[in-house]
Amino acid sequence: MSPGVRELPSPNQDDRPAGAAIDTLVLHYTGMRSGAEAIARLRDPAARVSSHYVVEEDGAVLRLVPEARRAWHAGISHWRGMAALNDRSIGIEIVNPGHDWGYRPFPALQMAAVCDLCLEILARHPIPPINVVAHSDIAPDRKADPGELFDWEGLAANGVGLWPAAADAPAPAGAPAGASAAALLSAIGYRTDLPLPVLLAAFQRHWRPARVDGVADAETLARLAGLVRMLGA
Ligand SMILES: [Zn+2]
Repeated sequence: MSPGVRELPSPNQDDRPAGAAIDTLVLHYTGMRSGAEAIARLRDPAARVSSHYVVEEDGAVLRLVPEARRAWHAGISHWRGMAALNDRSIGIEIVNPGHDWGYRPFPALQMAAVCDLCLEILARHPIPPINVVAHSDIAPDRKADPGELFDWEGLAANGVGLWPAAADAPAPAGAPAGASAAALLSAIGYRTDLPLPVLLAAFQRHWRPARVDGVADAETLARLAGLVRMLGA
């Protein structure tokens, strides 16, 4: 553990199920007006929410729940056939007001701290790169965090998660865009029982942040295909 991590325990934790592997890393934004307000809520027994870590805008890192314990950050969630991801994930809350309170870029110091923390976590647990996810990936109908301003590409460049290479292969000509997109989203790990535009918007928030409109345009399809290629799916 980095010397810079400050312990600030939350009561909102319990045991992981017996034998549960830790194989997923979920990134969030706090979505409240201030970091202090968010941290207070993550430690309020009445709120029944928490995360393992909070990263403040100045890069300070707080630990609220030990990694071996279950924090309560993901809620109803699905990814690559898994459900109830609190059982098997580590959750990081990243201070940002979010879409409701003045969404703004994540400062460089904060992103650097997030990156370092993720690298430490990935060194401790066998978490596949495709299982480094946004809350919006695993709950696309409910959540938009950490959102399109979050620097997933920069993280991937440092070995945290995946980023598809520049589109070097267009989507298959003649394939119906809707059917093709649905199959690719499923291959990546999204649940399939939600409207396609909802799933596409979640994908775009993570992997095509310049355009989050739920439309399978050529660039979105190319990035979908590029990511699936990286998975060997
Ligand atoms: Zn969240």
